[in-house]
Amino acid sequence: MNSVVIVGASLAGIRCAGSLRRSGFDGSIALVGDEPHRPYDRPPLSKQYLNGDWDVDRLHLVQPDAWDELDVTLHASNAAVALDVAATAVTLADGSVIAGDAIVLATGARPRTLPRSDALAGVHVLRTLDDASMLRAELGGEAKKVVVIGAGFIGAEAAATAHRAGHQVTIIEAATVPMERGLGPVIGTICGDLHREEGVDLRLSTGVTSLLGHDAITGVELDDGSVLDADIVVIGIGVVPNTEWLHGSGLTIDNGIVANEYCEAAPNVYAAGDVARWTNPMFAGELMRVEHWENAVEQGNYVGRRIAGIETEAFAPVPWFWSDQYSYKLQLAGRPTGTDDMKIIDGSIEEKRFAAIFGRNGMLTGVFGLNRPKHVMQYRMQMTQGATWDDALAFAEAAAAKKS
Ligand code: FAD
Ligand code: NAP
Repeated sequence: MNSVVIVGASLAGIRCAGSLRRSGFDGSIALVGDEPHRPYDRPPLSKQYLNGDWDVDRLHLVQPDAWDELDVTLHASNAAVALDVAATAVTLADGSVIAGDAIVLATGARPRTLPRSDALAGVHVLRTLDDASMLRAELGGEAKKVVVIGAGFIGAEAAATAHRAGHQVTIIEAATVPMERGLGPVIGTICGDLHREEGVDLRLSTGVTSLLGHDAITGVELDDGSVLDADIVVIGIGVVPNTEWLHGSGLTIDNGIVANEYCEAAPNVYAAGDVARWTNPMFAGELMRVEHWENAVEQGNYVGRRIAGIETEAFAPVPWFWSDQYSYKLQLAGRPTGTDDMKIIDGSIEEKRFAAIFGRNGMLTGVFGLNRPKHVMQYRMQMTQGATWDDALAFAEAAAAKKS
């Protein structure tokens, strides 16, 4: 291998480049990005950057003085528009073609929107640095009415940040329980309660029928016919993987780029990060797409090692993420579904400090922690080792006995 082309100049892409270099790859690396910026980190965009605590220079994924050492050619503001799988070559928006011995697809995902959201000032999605800068500027002024649509991660974190800035915040969520599909009814309800206890108005089982206003947002019409006044709207209703440019390439595209357990979508073509839907042997070969930071880091690193020829194992992680909301750190490891068994194994809901485990078909499937990072890592390790539900309960009992 003498040359690698990485498409997507963000977390998975840049981690892949770093991993290639650490693994001894000394060929050329081209990094293709459609954004104008050097790679930056997204989690602070809904937290420290949005609330004004951090400036843009805290977001670099590669410090400016480390670029030369990484020796990567960045093609910024130049989207990839086509992939030739047989030639392992990518065509860019400016018409140029870059070929490599291997191609890495790390194009992430983009927010879903609502009708008229692009036409109305004051309506925001939150994915890019530019999105966050616009929202930050609007949240920086006097107290306003902020309506957040969707009580997922973006909704929860943006609501917490806007509330902290002194705005009047309402969250609209169509489901009866926030994040129920991944966290189940008990934990989902607790997540919803965090907002209410902080003074944020959370409206569940409520749909949005339209965004109101001529040039700028004035209100949000709800499915019961009522109208909520709004100066700012933040839409957080999920994302779609950026795969359109690959149609016609011959790759299998099905809710992401489908790849095998080595993250290969085709010979010498790899996928990593939010856009990748790979076969995870840790979960009985489930085709898995994970939309969280740690996975983009681990998968980018993995693909770099794989291309450099020093990785022989399959990519088989137990996914993990965190979310900061108000004064709470929420963490989840594993792959629970909303209908799994759930048991609180440390702390209590009342204290707002607890860890809960999830199980299905006799196996440990997940662990959730509210301000309980140590427990999440312990049970994540257990899942990596294939722990059963009974193993996890025995571990919890032993830990409780040791504590008392
Ligand atoms: P992305 O970061 O989406 O990067 C893909 C890049 O490819 C983008 O720059 C995109 O513009 C570019 N691109 C797309 N199409 C093309 C093309 N055709 N040609 C060239 N370039 C292209 N996760 C957590 O675990 N914890 C958190 O607290 C957390 N907070 C978050 C907060 C925010 C506001 C957001 C948006 C995400 C957050 N995440 C968090 C999720 C995490 O940031 C993502 O999982 C991660 O960014 C995925 O990295 P990626 O490189 O796969 O994709
Ligand atoms: P998300 O976490 O998937 O949540 C989207 C929410 O919107 C869900 O509650 C979803 O309900 C709901 N929804 C879906 N379609 C809707 C519609 N048409 N109308 C109203 N509600 C709808 O996505 P997100 O919050 O927008 O976040 C975007 C991405 O950033 C995700 O990949 C997320 O993982 C990532 N992110 C992660 C973190 C973190 O890990 N801490 C923080 C911020 C962002 P259903 O579940 O019922 O569909």
